[in-house]
Amino acid sequence: MTSESPDTTALRARVRELMPRAEEDLRALVAMRSVADPRQFPPEECAKAADFLVRAFTEAGLSDMRRVTTPDGTDAVVGHGKGPEGAPTVLLYCHYDVQPPLDDAAWRTPPFELTEVDGRWYGRGAADCKGNIAMHLTALRALGGPEGAGFPVNIRFVAEGSEEQGTGGLEQLVPLQPELFAADALLICDTGNFALGLPTTTTSLRGLTNVVVTVSTLKGEMHSGMFGGPAPDALAALVRILDSLRDEHGNTAIEGLPAEGLWDGVSYPAEQFRADAGVLDGVQLVGTGSVADELWARPAVTVLGIDCPPVVGSSAAVQARVRARVSLRVPPGTDAETARKALTDHLVAAAPWGARIEVEAESAGQPFRARTDGPAYTALGAALREAYGADMVQAGQGGSIPLCNVLADRFPDAEIALIGVEEPGCLIHAPNESVDPAEIERMALAEALFLRSYAGAFARPAGA
Ligand SMILES: [Zn+2]
Repeated sequence: MTSESPDTTALRARVRELMPRAEEDLRALVAMRSVADPRQFPPEECAKAADFLVRAFTEAGLSDMRRVTTPDGTDAVVGHGKGPEGAPTVLLYCHYDVQPPLDDAAWRTPPFELTEVDGRWYGRGAADCKGNIAMHLTALRALGGPEGAGFPVNIRFVAEGSEEQGTGGLEQLVPLQPELFAADALLICDTGNFALGLPTTTTSLRGLTNVVVTVSTLKGEMHSGMFGGPAPDALAALVRILDSLRDEHGNTAIEGLPAEGLWDGVSYPAEQFRADAGVLDGVQLVGTGSVADELWARPAVTVLGIDCPPVVGSSAAVQARVRARVSLRVPPGTDAETARKALTDHLVAAAPWGARIEVEAESAGQPFRARTDGPAYTALGAALREAYGADMVQAGQGGSIPLCNVLADRFPDAEIALIGVEEPGCLIHAPNESVDPAEIERMALAEALFLRSYAGAFARPAGA
């Protein structure tokens, strides 16, 4: 790296000095079994983690830190920090609940005890998302804290209490108390880097629409010896319908749904994807696009379930009525409702033999694409470059984060950036989750650098 400013060198040193405290915080947090499911873990464990956040972020310089109960009955932790007059506002998001440890026996270290092995810190939540909490704390402490110079921007802090359970409490809180979330830039810190040490922002999330398709052909099941042949088999009809959802290359091929999108961010090497997805030797990847195109820029259909007789217990019968649950992931640029309509029309049109088709819509969520043309994104790119000595890349995520859509709808002018300390080696949601402390250090530095430089880069729109 070329020479950096004395301010940056000082901040870098400060973050490094703060790392033992980050480890201490993370140790305390990982020891709290904050799985937000009272059937599995006592709710006091979540309460302990929430109280820890209130104390730690107060000490790091934020004001009015408190618990706020969300409509799903769990507690978010919120607070704010005051910057200079006229400074922009940045929201710092994380969540303090964790996935259950799953198979205890599969863990090589105790899941709720932060344990160092070969330089990585192991424990449930060490990366997702308590590592990001440690990152926020370290960045805020490095910038000032109560006795320091104060923060360069106004800060809003929100830690969700039930992200992993998908109960949607925080999404419902946004319209009820928008003032807790309103900001010029929102750092959604629950993702991370595409590879260890490769600074990444996640700029694209696919949306989702699910339908249940029911096929009926007969008044009742009929003996396959007596009637099989001319009798229209509902299961055979369903198989044909489902098969029509992909072409011979495996591309999702739904009439009226664009499927030629190209991903222009980081590339996802096919060999790496094969390994990550556990594809068996000799079995091909499907689709004619690159892995990144297929995963982040194109629709993907998946049959989630079929109701028909299971093998054990099946009898010699032609099926009268069967159904399937079909899921469609939709990339940014495609409206989820339009996609659902296209899928429904396709399913109906694909029915052979005049079979009766009913399509019932389930949930739908829109895709998300982050704005990358604003001052926050530019400042974040520069901060990550300084912290890592490498250029920031853009990655997508095949899944969805509904909160991003809710925030984007509510605050259309705000810039939303998805970053964090996670990387593929973290094995989030699996046994043996871990975090690389160097990633916490670099991301905390990047966050602090961002908060400092964004204050200068931000120009409030005239009249605002
Ligand atoms: Zn998470």
